[in-house]
Amino acid sequence: MQRPIYMDCHATTPLDPRALEAMLPYLREHFGNASSRTHSFGWAAEEAVDAARAQVAALLGAQAREIVFTSGATEAIHLALRGSARRERGGHIVTTAIEHKAVLDTLAELEKQGLETTRVPVGSDGVVDPEAIRAALRSDTFLVCVMAANNEIGTLQPLAEVGQLTRERGILLFTDAAQAVGKVPLDVEALQIDLLSMSAHKAYGPKGVGALYVRRRGRRVRLAPASPGGGQERGLRSGTLNVPGIVGLGMACEIAGAELEVEAKRVLGLRERLRQGIESAVPDVTLNGSPTQRLPGNLNMSFAGVQGESLLMQLNDIAVSPGSACDSASGEPSHVMRALGVPDDLARSSIRFGLGRFNTQEEVDYVLDKVIAVVGRLRRASPLYANGMSSQGESS
Ligand SMILES: *Cc1c(COP(=O)(O)O)cnc(C)c1O
Repeated sequence: MQRPIYMDCHATTPLDPRALEAMLPYLREHFGNASSRTHSFGWAAEEAVDAARAQVAALLGAQAREIVFTSGATEAIHLALRGSARRERGGHIVTTAIEHKAVLDTLAELEKQGLETTRVPVGSDGVVDPEAIRAALRSDTFLVCVMAANNEIGTLQPLAEVGQLTRERGILLFTDAAQAVGKVPLDVEALQIDLLSMSAHKAYGPKGVGALYVRRRGRRVRLAPASPGGGQERGLRSGTLNVPGIVGLGMACEIAGAELEVEAKRVLGLRERLRQGIESAVPDVTLNGSPTQRLPGNLNMSFAGVQGESLLMQLNDIAVSPGSACDSASGEPSHVMRALGVPDDLARSSIRFGLGRFNTQEEVDYVLDKVIAVVGRLRRASPLYANGMSSQGESS
């Protein structure tokens, strides 16, 4: 068993060796610019980009012409939100309280330009109620933005129900699917999604590349271009294409499509082994987020009476993250934990495990033993934690 053990797959995933192999020729001999129409270097690059576009589309139930390559999910989010908002000039967007910062900060910027937004709260399990979305819709609502899976607590949102609502009213549905693509089935037709952002490096592809799905079938979504220039990607996203990255993204999508079902079961099994092992050996632990509506590889738990930072430091050969990504230097718990109503001290005592394709049962068992030992040690040394305390965490 190699150490350190990587268990932080929501931050990024390792590059699948098969994606790397597919990329290498496009870093070596096939270095052409996909826009060069006059020689074989350009044609080889263009062919590879076309093939990757088809691979990405196939995973999402989309068509190749509906895929726009970007530098990652963040840029795809900017393109979806700014691109649709500019067309509307004002208007109203409905979103949720637990979106990624790339969404919330872009919306905050658009608000300064006159757009109005409603952030619908989520339940204590992190799931948004479609009825609450419906209640927030206005006559000038042109877009609903609901993430497919949350990056901290792994919660899966009821996109099919939301898609039904938005389609009936002619409102666009945009989903930030960076955490969900390749981990759970997502079909833009079945879910009635109009815009979907994704990132290669969250799905065993390379960093610095992603895509936006832009519906053209049935209802054609029109976006204002984000970056003027050479007119690549149907004018929506100018700039020379990152051919090796795009090839890696395409291969990552093809692998995910072929293996998702089996992999999701295996990863869920590992996650449950870890969760049950912790819950049966450690008192006063709480699961953050829904026990059922959840990414297979996500486990976010609070260990009452233990500082998350100390816990991470003691788990020194295990790569995991705080369960609550601090919003700033202030050290305040994240907007996600606050939206769930998790008390601040419990949010600070949480860690996020992100299990994935390359984790093994042996690694899970090592992590389990170490977590049990370290939490026990920290609690024995902690004046904040006395045996028999409740899980309320009222220890500050
Ligand atoms: C990682 C992530 C992003 C940003 O993706 P990048 O490709 O790194 O820009 C956006 N949304 C969610 C939910 C994410 O997990």
